[in-house]
Amino acid sequence: MKKALITGITGQDGSYLTELLLEKGYYVYGIVRRSSSMNRWRIDHLVKDENIYGNSLFLDYADLSDDASLRRIFSKVNPDEVYHLAGQSHVALSFEIPELTTHEISNATVKLLEICRDQALPPKIYLAGSSEIFGHAQESIQAEDTQYSPTSPYGVCKEFCVQMGKVYRSGYGMHVSNGILYNHESPRRGENFVTQKIVRGAASIAQGKAEFLELGNLEIERDWGYAPDFVRGMWKMLQQEQAGDYILATGKTHKLSDLLQLSFEYFGLNHRKHVRVNPKFVRPNEPAYLCGDSSKAQKILGWKPSVTFEQIIKGMCEAAEKSIQRGKL
Ligand code: NAP
Ligand code: GDP
Repeated sequence: MKKALITGITGQDGSYLTELLLEKGYYVYGIVRRSSSMNRWRIDHLVKDENIYGNSLFLDYADLSDDASLRRIFSKVNPDEVYHLAGQSHVALSFEIPELTTHEISNATVKLLEICRDQALPPKIYLAGSSEIFGHAQESIQAEDTQYSPTSPYGVCKEFCVQMGKVYRSGYGMHVSNGILYNHESPRRGENFVTQKIVRGAASIAQGKAEFLELGNLEIERDWGYAPDFVRGMWKMLQQEQAGDYILATGKTHKLSDLLQLSFEYFGLNHRKHVRVNPKFVRPNEPAYLCGDSSKAQKILGWKPSVTFEQIIKGMCEAAEKSIQRGKL
């Protein structure tokens, strides 16, 4: 049985990837960090399952800023595959906390690459790149060879990681793959990302708990995909003989107004009556439009998205509705 180490196992992608790898018969080791309140709701169902936790799923305390804890886990686990997903993942917040963003994304990635390089048999490594590296993109549909032009501290740090991944791959012959992933959503998406914020905002308004939803830039268009599809792509990258860089995207974009309409209509509301702009949510700089060309992943990995934008948003609305019924929203 293969052993996979996941950083960021408690996050959206980490939780779906864990389920996928367990299904495939892996031993999954995850790094969790100390916080003042436990925030493991995305993997609770796995941790509470006695057949899984302690048998094929293991959690260890560590932190990206704690070198000794990371090295200790590598010595203990000796992983075949490492999926490095952890880090400050919010673009808007990267303008507020650029230094922490740099430490958690750029420095931590180099640290992990170095730890992997030091292993007797370096594992295969997945690095979590982002469409934000393209920023004000030179091409209307971006491919792996589109010039990077990031517009946020987050985007700059992700570009650094992609470049560093290439350096370790070509310089040391390590199996490092960069996933350049476009936005991907699910009912497990963090609540301060725009899809979840809108879905939950509409649900709250429908319940009479709020009258308005405050948003930032309404004039954007994004290529939104489905997180479980995307983690499948991550796994496929590490099953290749050669490592590489791959865009995972749907190739279809939607406006923020489409997202608002779908979400508010689900709850029987007209978004025009309930949405207003609050400048505090407007970023200093950002791409107006991003759309990815995943032809390479489709051709080499046999990857393709399986769920439409409408299905993703409906699923998120249904999940929000269930949370309301359980008194959890
Ligand atoms: P997420 O839900 O925000 O999860 C982030 C994970 O990183 C959480 O498990 C978090 O732990 C962990 N983490 C953060 N700082 C840490 C630290 N100092 N030490 C240890 N763990 C730490 O993010 P996601 O949506 O799953 O995304 C996964 C990765 O893909 C991220 O690197 C993100 O930037 C990248 N990405 C995401 C998207 C997307 O649309 N989702 C698109 C492109 C790239 P806690 O639970 O304790 O906070
Ligand atoms: P990102 O693409 O990784 O930054 O994912 P987000 O879901 O945070 O943002 C997607 C897009 O929605 C960005 O272009 C944001 O500027 C836009 N947006 C508009 N209003 C908001 C808001 O209130 N919160 C967030 N998170 N994004 C917003």
